[in-house]
Amino acid sequence: MLFITRGNLNKLLGSLSGDYRVFVPTQSGERTAFSPLSEKTLEKMVIGGVRGFEPLKAFYFLGREKVAEGFGPETPHANDIPPCIVGVKACDLRGFHILDHVYMDEDYGDPTYMKARREGLIISSDCTETLDTCFCTAVGGKPWPESDVDINHSPAADGFLVLQGSEKGKNTIQKYRSLFQEATDETTRSVKQVRSTVKRKLEKSAAENKIPPVEKLAGTVKRNYESSVWADETSTCVECGACNTICPTCHCFLLYDQQSDGRLARFRIWDSCLIKDFARVAGGENPRARLWMRLRNRFDKKFDFFPNVAGEVACTGCGRCIAACPGKIDIRKVLGRLDSE
Ligand code: SF4
Ligand code: SF4
Repeated sequence: MLFITRGNLNKLLGSLSGDYRVFVPTQSGERTAFSPLSEKTLEKMVIGGVRGFEPLKAFYFLGREKVAEGFGPETPHANDIPPCIVGVKACDLRGFHILDHVYMDEDYGDPTYMKARREGLIISSDCTETLDTCFCTAVGGKPWPESDVDINHSPAADGFLVLQGSEKGKNTIQKYRSLFQEATDETTRSVKQVRSTVKRKLEKSAAENKIPPVEKLAGTVKRNYESSVWADETSTCVECGACNTICPTCHCFLLYDQQSDGRLARFRIWDSCLIKDFARVAGGENPRARLWMRLRNRFDKKFDFFPNVAGEVACTGCGRCIAACPGKIDIRKVLGRLDSE
């Protein structure tokens, strides 16, 4: 195992900015947000802590993006410098399992997404704290990354324990090997201790929130298809779509055309299945005309449909939808209620 000091990590990120657009997690009030690397953001960089405010998908599947232009063969963003996102948490990495299933495909994949995924670099870190809304362990996750990452950093005294997670990560470490040193047993022990403390805290919170076990989630949602819980829980929903847009696994989009720099261009923006017109078809018919049907659809997709087609629940337990919902609809409580029906 390797170790890197904070000073050398800063040097490493500075060097990587020659090859990547580097974003680092910085403290902004009570939130952690990703900011472009600069001297100022490096000073405020937080490696560890909790997940960022914005979902990781925002760097790979942009909120608004030009996807075609002037009916030509060229792909917008084809020459973009790949991203390097630092301090990514395990819950966001799990979001890639769903996004990759949808957007990585040789015939029908999204070229911008695939390019960023293939060429980008992910430097993740353990969670050393939790938010009240976190529940990754209840949906099969852990508060530290074990896959889908190039290099992981686990905070320890005076620096970070470093784990290489991919060939790309290995090559990066080799290239800047002089910045790393061998980790001591004491460092490894302290990282293990922090991990188990954070995991225990999350498990306690999941139990308090009565979240059903992950293997029961599909059955719980299916069995309650006609339950009155959906309408009841939807009573405070204002149809803002925040739960979708903030979610690291939600990936639906809307296409529209408009003039851009004197040429006709096609744009893609994030869409939300909670919004009434999402499923409306020609002639005005709407298979999910009522709001409670759309909330039910969201749960159905996350806990039944995606486990069937992608082998994975489409919820990473990041808790963002709980924090973002102005109607105070809590996905954990809804699952708990359905389970007790
Ligand atoms: S459904 Fe909510 S808790 Fe689950 S991944 Fe999406 S935003 Fe996070
Ligand atoms: S965030 Fe809450 S209020 Fe907004 S659409 Fe989702 S469930 Fe409804």
